[in-house]
Amino acid sequence: MRADAGLLLKVVAFAAEKHRNQRRKDPDASPYINHPIELANVLLHEGGVTDVVVLCAALLHDTLEDTQTTSEELALQFGSEIQAIVVEVTDNKKLKKRKRKELQMKHAPMLSTRAKLVKLADKICNLRDVASDPPPRWSLRRRIEYFDWAKSVVDGMRGVQPRLEAVFDATYALRPAAQRWRRHSKPAVRKPRT
Ligand code: NDP
Ligand code: ZN
Repeated sequence: MRADAGLLLKVVAFAAEKHRNQRRKDPDASPYINHPIELANVLLHEGGVTDVVVLCAALLHDTLEDTQTTSEELALQFGSEIQAIVVEVTDNKKLKKRKRKELQMKHAPMLSTRAKLVKLADKICNLRDVASDPPPRWSLRRRIEYFDWAKSVVDGMRGVQPRLEAVFDATYALRPAAQRWRRHSKPAVRKPRT
């Protein structure tokens, strides 16, 4: 446990340094590092995942995609097991966003069990963010589309951790209602003057 705590602290310090100038897309522009910490927190305290390799990979999951960190650096600092999981959950940023979203759905069933856990936690945290603190310019339709895409990815990796999947399903229930969007998009009906 002492060694695990030491590794977790080393990893969180590394991720915090790498994400130090980044912010999330919520209205308050929260520090980016809150998000990877939240993934690890959800995995441990809501999913019951105690595998320190998974928790470390969760803390590092956006370093390759969103910072200058290299895969070699991760292997050197934290070993090839953690490196491999982070690589698995990293999108190829050279591809267009639409293609990347398509590939996430296609590749989800092929991910390793540990990578699936990290991806599942990422989708839980992002859906919670979209439900409670969405990026300010996201329309209702865009939020709904994000929920549905996340569900398609998760549906491709069911069976690894029922407890965490139940957490995802409870989070998916926060999906904004499409009816509200339809109703609000109608022109307002004025009452005739009496
Ligand atoms: P983006 O990829 O631009 O943004 C979502 C990503 O940003 C998340 O996956 C998350 O990634 C990160 N993020 C940072 N802060 C937040 C936050 N507060 N809330 C949520 N995510 C945050 O979004 P998409 O392009 O995927 O758009 C969402 C959906 O909407 C798509 O399905 C797309 O098809 C659709 N769309 C609709 C449009 C419309 O006008 N109707 C226009 C464009 C897209 P991470 O955790 O990995 O950092
Ligand atoms: Zn993420």
